[in-house]
Amino acid sequence: VITQASEEIKLESYVIGGFVRDHILQRGEPKDIDIVAVGSGIELAKKVAQILPHKPKVQIFKNYGTAMLRAYDMEIEFVGARKESYQKDSRKPIVEDGSLEDDQNRRDFTINALALGLNEENFGNLLDPFNGIEDLNSKLIKTPLDPDITYSDDPLRMLRAIRFATQLNFKIEKESLDAITRNKKRIKIISKERITDELHKIMMAEKPSKGFSLLHKTGLLHIILPELTALEGIDEIEGQKHKDNFWHTLEVVDNIAKNTDDLWLRWAALLHDIGKAPTKKFHKKIGWTFHGHEFVGAKMVFKLFKRLRLPLNDKMKYVQKLVLMSSRPIAIVDNDVTDSAVRRLIFDAGEDIEDLMTLCEADITTKNPNRYKKYHN
Ligand code: ATP
Repeated sequence: VITQASEEIKLESYVIGGFVRDHILQRGEPKDIDIVAVGSGIELAKKVAQILPHKPKVQIFKNYGTAMLRAYDMEIEFVGARKESYQKDSRKPIVEDGSLEDDQNRRDFTINALALGLNEENFGNLLDPFNGIEDLNSKLIKTPLDPDITYSDDPLRMLRAIRFATQLNFKIEKESLDAITRNKKRIKIISKERITDELHKIMMAEKPSKGFSLLHKTGLLHIILPELTALEGIDEIEGQKHKDNFWHTLEVVDNIAKNTDDLWLRWAALLHDIGKAPTKKFHKKIGWTFHGHEFVGAKMVFKLFKRLRLPLNDKMKYVQKLVLMSSRPIAIVDNDVTDSAVRRLIFDAGEDIEDLMTLCEADITTKNPNRYKKYHN
């Protein structure tokens, strides 16, 4: 249909980006398709809608010069080929009309710059100016242009690089990783919502620890989630050590990811020990303790959710509850108990969060083991 529409209005069109990448990687059913028109993407979208039997509604985003329609259970987005240039304080580029080549130049990674011709004379021809196919084969995340410029222009790309590396189980090439490390502070110009979007995607990957260790390695995690990096390290006093709670947390997150696709349970796993950094103490008789870390951790969850613009609704309370109940439900998953058992445990507690907090605080101060029993069981 797009070929027919392009021929009728006499413009070149290409399918580009994620669709081509995922098609080559055979990554299941596509949810969206990006079409680039050399000319007006909006006109092409209108023509396509006219031809399609179900005559879909075309949503036009005039400010962005893009249009979207739904067909065959997919969102098809149309954009005119463009050239972009950036200013220092914004990730919003200055946009001009351009060629397909200009449009491929503005893409974040070589594997996201692949395009397939949709006109009659070049239908299905692959346009791969940056050897994206080679990088797909060698599982490499690489920028088409100088990585320092790519990441500084739009620092969100640093998180996208780590997210794609995690989702696809790819490696980020060394030059890129070094450039991310150098440009990490630029992440501050990115909105919290965009950051959490990428964190959710990392969290939902098969092995979220890969993403979090890359965030840690580049120093981005210290900026985005300092509560987590504060857990890093092993102290030793009088020959006594405690475990490294940061690396332990990443193991727990991977274990829980094997058991559940529930995003918020995964977040709870990530945050379950955050109270341990501020509560860490060494007692001559007992050794290292983290007394009250559950209570402190639950309070920290609220602040962290607020800062990251995560929803302050029942999802946040759910995460708080899990953190409050310490590592218990999570520890069970640690030992490979199923998701449903975890859920039962959580919901069976059934308490209001405030009550739980009061109770937990009382437990901490009275150290009355009976009052904990409910949650242990
Ligand atoms: P997914 O749908 O899994 O997120 P995707 O590659 O389709 O993967 P989108 O965010 O939908 O990701 O972006 C579509 C395409 O637009 C990308 O493949 C890439 O070519 C380009 N793109 C998106 N965001 C950026 C960016 N920040 N900088 C440069 N190019 C980008």
